[in-house]
Amino acid sequence: VLGAAGGIGQPLSMILKNNLPAGSKLSLYDVAPFTPGVATDLSHIPTDVEVSGFTGDDLPKALECCDVVVIPAGVARKPGMTRDDLFNINASIIANLVRNCARVCPKACICIITNPVNSTVPLAAEVLKSEGVYDKHRLFGVSALDVLRSETFLAAELGISNQRILVPVIGGHSGTTIIPLLSKVIGYEQISEDRIKALTERIQNAGTEVVEAKAGAGSATLSMATAGARFALKVVKGLMGEPGVNEYSYVEGGSKVSSFFAQSVVFGVNGWERVLDYGKVSAYEQSLIDGAASQLATNINKGVEFAKKWLSENK
Ligand code: NAD
Repeated sequence: VLGAAGGIGQPLSMILKNNLPAGSKLSLYDVAPFTPGVATDLSHIPTDVEVSGFTGDDLPKALECCDVVVIPAGVARKPGMTRDDLFNINASIIANLVRNCARVCPKACICIITNPVNSTVPLAAEVLKSEGVYDKHRLFGVSALDVLRSETFLAAELGISNQRILVPVIGGHSGTTIIPLLSKVIGYEQISEDRIKALTERIQNAGTEVVEAKAGAGSATLSMATAGARFALKVVKGLMGEPGVNEYSYVEGGSKVSSFFAQSVVFGVNGWERVLDYGKVSAYEQSLIDGAASQLATNINKGVEFAKKWLSENK
């Protein structure tokens, strides 16, 4: 976990310590000097997962032999900021961390949480390409929090258990690029058109709901840690050969809408194996997909352009 001492990183590491398969090794890295202390703290939890913590120049040591790298490193939003406002700071952080992954653990599956995901993932792809190790099947943007939020809000709307709800969320991970396919939910016919629109907008703005409620103390951390851990554990299951494990993720996956697109991916022993078609959508959802295409293209281009500049300045 890179950024392991942060608001997301600490609870994410805790969930992984408690849920990774016995015999796994959990490696924490953060520029915060107390990161080895976070590892010591976690190491007292009695599970068969060995934890180690690194900081400073020890990033390569932290990455040795890693199969999965989860990255929540960077800065988070304050009220009034969009995810895009984070770009300039977080882009350099991601470029440097991903270059280290390419050099130390080139076959690792890299799961990027750091915002703006719509741009940081294409940026990471360019850095991996420049190192000659890019494999689109091993690079993921973690958009799963949008799925968790949709499940929660829809379950409340329908008055049923969260455990029984599955909501596909496609597109990207910011604003109107977040496209929940509520027409796929059992019970959809009972929800009025106005409510569908209101729920869709709430899902799209749910991150801002947390940013405003925290009033300057950051963005979603605990729900994100839950989503990030659920995601990473599914990647691990795939690598271990468990069949039929899938989740929504922002990947370079051959979508007709945009080169990088959040969609359901099936995990396997080499990362994501294939993308599942989201099938027929409602006219409203189609209008959201059409509307997101140009925004996604702009976000992707921003990541690619930054990578070109960063790579020329950081040989
Ligand atoms: P935070 O500030 O609490 O923690 C970030 C951590 O990253 C800090 O501990 C910091 O020391 C560390 N860090 C900074 N630069 C680093 C570097 N070069 N190497 C290693 N570690 C470094 O922030 P947070 O609340 O944990 O959020 C982290 C990121 O996750 C933000 O970009 C935020 O926007 C994003 N986020 C994404 C989603 C999503 O759905 N994908 C949801 C919420 C937040």
